[in-house]
Amino acid sequence: MNKDFAVIGLGRFGGSICRELSKEGMHVLAIDSDEERINEYKNIAYHTVLADSTDEDALKQIGISNFDHVVVAIGENIQASILTAVILTDMGVNKITVKAQNDYHEKILNKIGVHQVVHPERDMGKRLAHNFISSNILDYLELSDDHSIVEVKAGEKMIGKSLIELDIRANFGCNIVAIKKGHDINVSPSAEQALQEGDVLIVIGADKDITRFERELV
Ligand code: ADP
Repeated sequence: MNKDFAVIGLGRFGGSICRELSKEGMHVLAIDSDEERINEYKNIAYHTVLADSTDEDALKQIGISNFDHVVVAIGENIQASILTAVILTDMGVNKITVKAQNDYHEKILNKIGVHQVVHPERDMGKRLAHNFISSNILDYLELSDDHSIVEVKAGEKMIGKSLIELDIRANFGCNIVAIKKGHDINVSPSAEQALQEGDVLIVIGADKDITRFERELV
């Protein structure tokens, strides 16, 4: 079933979300206070509205509370972003995602009760840094301040060995939750089967343990 999305703020981030959702056939209402931006998205989004999202009445008129998911991607103007988030939570919008500019902004958004706060620049920086350490580290996802999930390509030291032999849980305190082989993903990987070249391991654990695992095995 298709969801109805609204994206507020059509800068690089919001614009990219709007384009991608529309490309996937989703109905997106694109909202921005800048007429030029709105014109740019007239042929991309399902519907566009020129409005200031800090204006509660304007959001009510749009019927924003009927949308399944509202994304707030206001960039520099943190005050406008926070005010918009307050209005949306007060209105009881089903799912609200807000882009945070910095850690303080993120903290406030969490306090307000926004369902999802994203920090794309910081997260991308972290992902890239882990990939710079080793090209075998394909992805990195932060779960909390001190726990993460990493996606690693089986390195030379792992190939031909089984999970029992590597005993990653005992040696590093991390767990292998899945193994990907091409497009197939096995979410209950066999402990005895030898890892092959090209296998990708999904590892979950405390950051300090994952770091040790990355240094010694990847
Ligand atoms: P990015 O860093 O993702 O490129 P920008 O700061 O360039 O973000 O863009 C943010 C967008 O949000 C701009 O198009 C701007 O017009 C829009 N915007 C800012 N404040 C409001 C508001 N109060 N209501 C609606 N749109 C807004």
